[in-house]
Amino acid sequence: REPLVTVRNLKKYYPIRSGFLGRKNKAIKAVDNISFDLKKGETFGLVGESGCGKSTTGRMLMMLTDPTEGTITFEGKNMLNLKGEQLRKERRSFQMIFQDPYASLNPKMTIRAIIEEPLIIHGFKEKEERSNRVDELMKLVGLNQDQADRHAHEFSGGQRQRIGIARALALNPQLIIADEPVSALDVSIQAQIVNLLQDLQKKLGLTYLFISHDLSIIEHISDRIAVMYLGNIVELSTKTDLYAQPLHPYTQALISAIPRPDPLDKREKIVLKGDIPSPENPPAGCPFHTRCPKALDKCRVEKPILSEKQSEHFVACHLYTQP
Ligand code: SF4
Ligand code: MG
Repeated sequence: REPLVTVRNLKKYYPIRSGFLGRKNKAIKAVDNISFDLKKGETFGLVGESGCGKSTTGRMLMMLTDPTEGTITFEGKNMLNLKGEQLRKERRSFQMIFQDPYASLNPKMTIRAIIEEPLIIHGFKEKEERSNRVDELMKLVGLNQDQADRHAHEFSGGQRQRIGIARALALNPQLIIADEPVSALDVSIQAQIVNLLQDLQKKLGLTYLFISHDLSIIEHISDRIAVMYLGNIVELSTKTDLYAQPLHPYTQALISAIPRPDPLDKREKIVLKGDIPSPENPPAGCPFHTRCPKALDKCRVEKPILSEKQSEHFVACHLYTQP
């Protein structure tokens, strides 16, 4: 498959001042030089613990946060160089579904007004055209059209997430960035929303960047996955390879901690020592070395780079580099 979006050397550094009279310039490296492609029609999972930079990555793709450096290429154009009308036009192709449907919908607006809003903003002047589109979108996400004039606060979490999805689809996007879209929902509702997203992907040919800390959901929905730790991608692979044969010690620990319903599944849980270091003061060398059960001497000084170990399976770890 060809790439829809190409991300190269993307960084987000937040400057902080420290030391005597704030003279030492330091930076929090929220995202530290990551590269990946989003292939047309795939679901690309971005997984890691909170604070690893996955949401910041999603927000940079949505152009809600300015990158410090890097490129985001879509249809041959670096989105970060676009301005004004051209930017407005192109960014319609990227839409976001948020973590918390409660917080992202205005409770005073009717469902119709919420879904219609992006159409109004983007200059659809015909009222009837907009109204038909809203009906169509509600049907698409499984909402009853009779409810169009009710308010968001009257709906359950799952239905609110359907409203958020309908709104995200209003302008016919190509890429949907979903940041923890089911984390705020009951487990029974999570599956319904994940299934809806999968149906919509098939029907509409959508590409998803699916951000989650939940390795079970990521396994269920993704075609390819990138694992992030302290602003870095430490492993990137197809879903099948990643779960069958995780290479990075961090990925191995995360996968070992997935609850397995099968009592005969005796895989040992790898318990990591310590906490995630503060991004204000990240370790030198491999960012994972303070917690890694397999750390070598060189891990404390030399940062491993992400490189292809097997076909389409990339890992940033000295265990796999030749001495
Ligand atoms: Fe562990 Fe070293 Fe690999 Fe980092 S580079 S994950 S510290 S073995
Ligand atoms: Mg987040």
